[in-house]
Amino acid sequence: MMFRATVLTLYPEMFPGALGLSLAGRALEAGSWSLDAVQIRDFATDRHRTVDDTPAGGGAGMVLRADILAKAIDHASPEGDGRPRLLMSPRGKPLNQERVRELAAGPGAVILCGRFEGVDQRLIESRGLEEVSIGDFILSGGEPAALVLLDAVVRLLPGVMGNQVSGDEESFENGLLEHPHYTRPQLFEDMPIPEILTSGNHAKIAAWRHERALELTAERRPDLIAKRQPRQK
Ligand code: SAH
Repeated sequence: MMFRATVLTLYPEMFPGALGLSLAGRALEAGSWSLDAVQIRDFATDRHRTVDDTPAGGGAGMVLRADILAKAIDHASPEGDGRPRLLMSPRGKPLNQERVRELAAGPGAVILCGRFEGVDQRLIESRGLEEVSIGDFILSGGEPAALVLLDAVVRLLPGVMGNQVSGDEESFENGLLEHPHYTRPQLFEDMPIPEILTSGNHAKIAAWRHERALELTAERRPDLIAKRQPRQK
């Protein structure tokens, strides 16, 4: 089963963008996943291909129309195609590695990218959209957020990352930030590589890395330590 991504956007030219290069790009070419960028404007009905209108109740900016978006969504993912429908939105649940892993294990995703002030609330409710945020800041549109989400998902797809182990040890996979890395040269501006890493003692190296990971997480992200299972602490 191939992971199928459909992105609904006013800027289909932004895709595959960064996802056309490197690991994700090679996997796309190899057919390990597929990406379809659908132009929302193609579903407009008037001569000017209007997709937005002024906010009910007044105020600044424009809002994407529910009727146009509904047609685009219904066309791109007919009822029952089994893919979750996501709306990139600063009001959404913050994206995390757990959700990324779930998405990667599924059939794909239909991703709606907002623009302007956002989308009509009735569209979100009628089409059961899951709002997903990539952080507490405001982008000018959902497209960069969709690229971020897909990048995180695609690297987990089978066969995309050469070295599977590296994926398992990454930051967040065990509830901790990752330990620091070093590579040659042995001496960089008077700073040597920590001796233990060149000792060849794999058990000691693993213990050292775990200690550093704990230390770093306690210092930078105490919230992650608090969330760990008691036996992990
Ligand atoms: N007026 C809205 C922000 C609109 S920004 C508000 O205050 O909540 C325009 C579009 O960019 C949004 O519809 C959304 O699709 C996207 N966007 C902005 N910030 C985002 C974030 N942090 N995560 C995901 N999508 C975001």
